[in-house]
Amino acid sequence: MNTPLAPAQLAATDRAHIIHPYLPGTAEERVIMTGGSGCRLTDAEGRSYLDATGGLWLAQIGHGREEIARVAYDQMKQLEYFTSFWEFSNDRAVELAARLASLAPEGLGHVYFTSGGSEGNEAAIKMARYYHHRRGDTGRTWILARHKAYHGIGYGGGSATGFPVYHEGFAPMMPHVSHLTPPWPYRKELFGGQERTPEQVTNFLIQELEERIAEIGGENIAAMIGEPIMGVGGMLVPPPDYWPRVREVLDRHGILLILDEVVTAYGRVGQWFAAQYFGITPDIIVTAKGITSGYIPLGALLVGDHVAEVLLRDHGFPMGYTYNGHPVAAAVALANLDIIEREGLLARATAIGGHLHRELESQLGDLPIVGEIRSVGMMLAVELVADRKTREPLPMLQPLLPDVIRRESGVIVRDCAHSLVLSPPLIMTETEAKETVTAMRSVLERTLPTGEI
Ligand code: PLP
Repeated sequence: MNTPLAPAQLAATDRAHIIHPYLPGTAEERVIMTGGSGCRLTDAEGRSYLDATGGLWLAQIGHGREEIARVAYDQMKQLEYFTSFWEFSNDRAVELAARLASLAPEGLGHVYFTSGGSEGNEAAIKMARYYHHRRGDTGRTWILARHKAYHGIGYGGGSATGFPVYHEGFAPMMPHVSHLTPPWPYRKELFGGQERTPEQVTNFLIQELEERIAEIGGENIAAMIGEPIMGVGGMLVPPPDYWPRVREVLDRHGILLILDEVVTAYGRVGQWFAAQYFGITPDIIVTAKGITSGYIPLGALLVGDHVAEVLLRDHGFPMGYTYNGHPVAAAVALANLDIIEREGLLARATAIGGHLHRELESQLGDLPIVGEIRSVGMMLAVELVADRKTREPLPMLQPLLPDVIRRESGVIVRDCAHSLVLSPPLIMTETEAKETVTAMRSVLERTLPTGEI
């Protein structure tokens, strides 16, 4: 093993060698994590942090579980890797596929493994096009998506992503992608500037969907892809009837529905899948993150049997990743699902998420910069505004807030669009929930030039 570097050397070496996503080369600061346990992290300087983002929204069972480490060790000794191409498989991947099929909505009995969410969305988009192609419906090339969507960084999912910042400088993006309005009822300017009931918001969005399908031609559209609750968009929770009605429209036109559940699956919304929360059965569910709680990279697509039947015809589905069905990742996922089940973390996500929501309301609700507090289970957001009446988004200071909260209080939160978002481990305690919100309150109070607080 290498001699451990001192904290300052670690930071300097990091600056010299690592290209971090979304960090300018001129940035000096590094927070170099060296340990984790439960909801807490420790950095090289010995500082402690409360992880209110669950890493990147995935640490369902919390950090530092020895049980998982043991499973990975045992599996590596037994069989560290072999391919899942052609007729090859491994016992852990088989067990995991059967387990996922048993948890999924009825009819999604087939599994395609990846190593993460971006790979998953690439696979799903290609699957959708290929499914139509194999059925002789070769004109179906278009993909419907939404503004404010995040579907990862491949050219397929990245093109479906609905933020211009992810496209700038990477052109040309994939053609034949069309973006719709996101279901974000709080932003009434998206819906003609008037306050609307949830049903009216859905009516508006369904009408737009129907019109877009008419413009492009239903016979030219392969699939619509969407996050059930939009994460990077700011935890945007659609009206309850939105997904059932979208599903009904797509069905009428033979368009597949891909639910990107990279964030929402495996307990985060209090169910195994958000599809179950919204009462719909998509054609493909893309998952990753929480499938292993981040202990090792893995993704899994749950594929409708009717889709799989077509993909598996003749020579089969012609795309594979080296790490499809990696046995160590599959073993870790099985152990992770065991813990979620054994510790009742689905119910816990609803209970502790509700508690966290109430903490946010009671501790932050009176701040004039707090526009809307919204959540489902352990996906929560506080949308910040410059003016509560006009709902004008909070400018300038807002992107600095998570940074300030982290540095001053040791609580890690993240900003997305105009919101501070939380997605802690599902094992968070009530004390930790309170600590998180108290830290947010104290920084919001001190940082913002409201004068009114
Ligand atoms: N889809 C959604 C909804 C995501 O939030 C993310 C990542 O945050 C991805 C896809 C991409 O997953 P990955 O970063 O594992 O490639």
